[in-house]
Amino acid sequence: MSGFMDTKIEFLKGVGPAKAKLLHEELGIQTFHDLIYHFPFRYEDRSQFLTINQISSDGENVQIKGVIDQVEIVGAAGKQRLTASFRDQTGQIELIWFKGVKWMKSKLKPGVPYIVYGKPSLFQTKYSISHPEIEILTPANETGKKSLLPVYATTEKLKRKYVDSKAIAKMQFELLQAKGTSAVETLDNELMQIMGLMDLNSALRQIHFPLSMQAKDKALERLKFDELFFIQLKIFKEKTDQKEAHRGIVFQNSSLVHDFYTNHKPFELTDSQKQVIKEIYTDLQSGYQMNRLLQGDVGSGKTITAFVCMLIAIGSGFQTTIMAPTEILAIQHHQGLEEYCDKLGLKIRLITGSTKKSNRRKYLEELASGEVNILVGTHALIENDVQFNRLGLAVIDEQHRFGVAQRAKLWQKNKHVYPHVLVMTATPIPRTLAMTLYGDLEVSTIRELPKGRKPIKTSHLYDSSRLKLFGFIQREIDLGRQVYIVYPLIEESSTLDYKDLMDGYESIARAFPKVPLSILHGKMKPKDKDFEMDRFVRGETKIMVATTVIEVGVNVPNASVMVIENSERFGLSQLHQLRGRVGRGADQSYCVLMTGSKISKTSRERIGCMVATTDGFEIAEKDLELRGPGDLMGTQQSGLLDLKVADLTTDGELLKRARRLAEQIIAEDPDLERQKHVKIARHLNKNQIATLRWSAIS
Ligand code: ADP
Ligand code: MG
Repeated sequence: MSGFMDTKIEFLKGVGPAKAKLLHEELGIQTFHDLIYHFPFRYEDRSQFLTINQISSDGENVQIKGVIDQVEIVGAAGKQRLTASFRDQTGQIELIWFKGVKWMKSKLKPGVPYIVYGKPSLFQTKYSISHPEIEILTPANETGKKSLLPVYATTEKLKRKYVDSKAIAKMQFELLQAKGTSAVETLDNELMQIMGLMDLNSALRQIHFPLSMQAKDKALERLKFDELFFIQLKIFKEKTDQKEAHRGIVFQNSSLVHDFYTNHKPFELTDSQKQVIKEIYTDLQSGYQMNRLLQGDVGSGKTITAFVCMLIAIGSGFQTTIMAPTEILAIQHHQGLEEYCDKLGLKIRLITGSTKKSNRRKYLEELASGEVNILVGTHALIENDVQFNRLGLAVIDEQHRFGVAQRAKLWQKNKHVYPHVLVMTATPIPRTLAMTLYGDLEVSTIRELPKGRKPIKTSHLYDSSRLKLFGFIQREIDLGRQVYIVYPLIEESSTLDYKDLMDGYESIARAFPKVPLSILHGKMKPKDKDFEMDRFVRGETKIMVATTVIEVGVNVPNASVMVIENSERFGLSQLHQLRGRVGRGADQSYCVLMTGSKISKTSRERIGCMVATTDGFEIAEKDLELRGPGDLMGTQQSGLLDLKVADLTTDGELLKRARRLAEQIIAEDPDLERQKHVKIARHLNKNQIATLRWSAIS
């Protein structure tokens, strides 16, 4: 059904086909609806007049009324300007034009009262306004001007065709005057009342031509609410639908967990870890398929938490798998868990891109027969020939490193029923983003680090203080500790970056001739990587010079110093991840951020943030503030975050309200069949509301 608001824009008074075409090309405006949703990005405050003696040079535009005394053209030919002396009862100011001098002179009438609007600037002791807006004062516009004037985004091309902000304002005015103009209300009355929201049509009027700043704020709140609320509603609806569609395997046997817990656990779990295990166990018994995100800062002990959950699945007769984004990390998980598996009599296998063919074949057989309890691997384990006998729980470590398709494949590794899925991340996601991007996942958070960890001390050093750094490294090595030195490698294939690393390695070798070193980068053969990593893990080498391949997950508790070269080239979350490689043992650990002497303002802010805090959530919030939601989540998901009016950086509170309401409504009325939900149901069905279905299976 197409209504009045779907009318093509060319039929609006004063538009026509040529302008309509341009509006479409330049601003994507095709219909009345599109136009009305082209909101102003700011307002000119015409709600008050100043007197001339109130003017100060604070950079704000002012509106004054008065008369012109005298108009004259001054300056040499070709550089002429027009000046007009303008006064009210309190003083005098100069108006200046550099362009259209003659035309303007013919227009200005001394002795006649005018309204003048513009930005005053101070020259010596006198104020002047260049190219002010000026019009004759009439009783009508004296009151008419007492308002907020909308300012619209437009483009150079449009402006050349006289479609400037003012022209757009005029179109909006025409449209709002037109008889049929009315947007279909999306919220039911009761809802608006409960939430204290303005109705949609009032909001659309007030956003363009607000009666006051408060009215504009109310209108904006309503429009933002709509945007956020319908995304949340869709998320909860899909989540509920999926829950109904996919039953989950019920795990109830916790005997293995008991055995591990009473006889083999290497340390006491933190309260946070225990709490998370409880949450997951509840899911695993619920009969619903679990899709849960486990957030926990670097070093918070996600691995063992996941392992305990895997024991629940294994104890109930199912297989489990854990997928890691890099080979090094997969190897570490395998090594770490193998020790426990031996004690518990479980079979664990590792499959990566460099697993020998014969081994691979053997493991796949064991996997298909159900002998293997835990399969660890990289994305090599989502290949088609990797077939489980009874996969019950899939864990994805550092989930942000995987694409949607890769994750989805893992879901399907059990032909009969979808396995439970636990995804883990050490990159805390700001709450607002998590609610929007991962809204359909349950979230568990490990909030504390294991006891006895000392917060890492972070400092910023300029390249010129390198000798000081070397002295410090030497002292730490003398204390028996180990050191990472990381170089930025933006692209594994970039020869330039690679040279940085090699030069760095050589200078370290010269500075520490007696200290055994390791080097690690993406161009090395997997075998050599393992060899170097092993030597460092065993403590045979003391300094690891590496690229960001060590960023994710690597665990060497004896390493106490993380030096990051050219740290201005890293993003905040990456710096945080890298820093998380140290501070894993009982010793005081350090992170040194090296930079050149000249760095940009944002780099300085990033580094300042790293020095100031070790709290991953705080860092994530700062990252969001510095980069904006789209950039933060990568291009793949950024489209989703292109909200028109709401801003995930600042509208967290409103988002929370919208989310709570959406959740409540879906819990009460999952199919939106009740009379009081008619309007929201209609809007939800009619509009394409983009959400990211994280847990979507096909
Ligand atoms: P992340 O959450 O970053 O993946 P890991 O699981 O790698 O962290 O754990 C970091 C280190 O902390 C490991 O050496 C692990 O054995 C240790 N660890 C985990 N939980 C505890 C705990 N409750 N008490 C002491 N050490 C722990
Ligand atoms: Mg980890």
